[in-house]
Amino acid sequence: MSESDLLPGWAVETLHGNYLQGLRIGHMLYDSETALQRIRIFENKTFGQVLTLDNIVQTTTGDEFIYHEMLAHVPILAHGEAKRVLIIGGGDGGMAREVLRHVSVEHVTMVEIDRTVIELSRTYLPTLSAGAFDDPRLDLVIADGAAFVAETDRRFDIVIIDSTDPVGAGEALFTKSFYAAAKTCLAKGGVLVTQNGVPFLQGAELTSTMRTFRAIFSDATCYLATVPSYSGGPMAFGWGTDGDAGKASLETLRARYQAAGLRTRYYTPEVHLGAFALPGYIRDLVEG
Ligand code: SAM
Repeated sequence: MSESDLLPGWAVETLHGNYLQGLRIGHMLYDSETALQRIRIFENKTFGQVLTLDNIVQTTTGDEFIYHEMLAHVPILAHGEAKRVLIIGGGDGGMAREVLRHVSVEHVTMVEIDRTVIELSRTYLPTLSAGAFDDPRLDLVIADGAAFVAETDRRFDIVIIDSTDPVGAGEALFTKSFYAAAKTCLAKGGVLVTQNGVPFLQGAELTSTMRTFRAIFSDATCYLATVPSYSGGPMAFGWGTDGDAGKASLETLRARYQAAGLRTRYYTPEVHLGAFALPGYIRDLVEG
């Protein structure tokens, strides 16, 4: 019997060896296996609709805005002139939605390995993509993101890794060779950002990514946001660039935010800058 079968009526996340998170299943909307992963979509009274892959929470309609706003708007507004964006993963469509809210973004390529995640998210979680998959600026590629970055000769101002955790198909998106190839996809001044887990529970993952980032970028760090359904403390987003996007001042960010005409529920220019202030235990993991 697996941990996920221990509590009938609950979705139990089995990502961590010594810690469980459970979400009560109000109503199961979908539960099946693709060739790659088990996909479940259910309703929870507090979090709304919840998408899990292999029993790991990917997104919930209740708190997804925090994750998607912070992984999209921080690099785009810090860069200031982003026209071409690459998203790796992101099958639920929430990241494409936030990126495409920038009218200055001319083209988005999204590389997702599992077409079923996209199809089911469009059906059961329509507020996630909110029309993004029909936007003519979006080019959807069904492929392994690691193979895509290794092969493409296209260049992007922003590369966003909106991946699962480093298990299964997502494992390839946390390797040194992947980060190095993703870096070569950046245009001059480009920024790479990554989903890097919850440092209190996944500290080794953050340290490993940051060691590679420090070796390949002149500006390598992480920034934070607390996303309730990724429990265990704040979540880390990796940040790497050889440009000066990390030096954007509060005044500059405020001006860009206003010019972009965005209305956001979590992101503010003040939160943007504050997110890079790291508590000691996370700074130690980043420098480890
Ligand atoms: N916000 C989420 C989180 O923090 O867990 C990530 C959500 S998104 C649904 C993750 C997507 O990455 C999934 O749809 C999965 O199929 C995709 N994925 C996993 N490995 C991949 C790979 N090697 N290449 C492209 N997409 C991948």
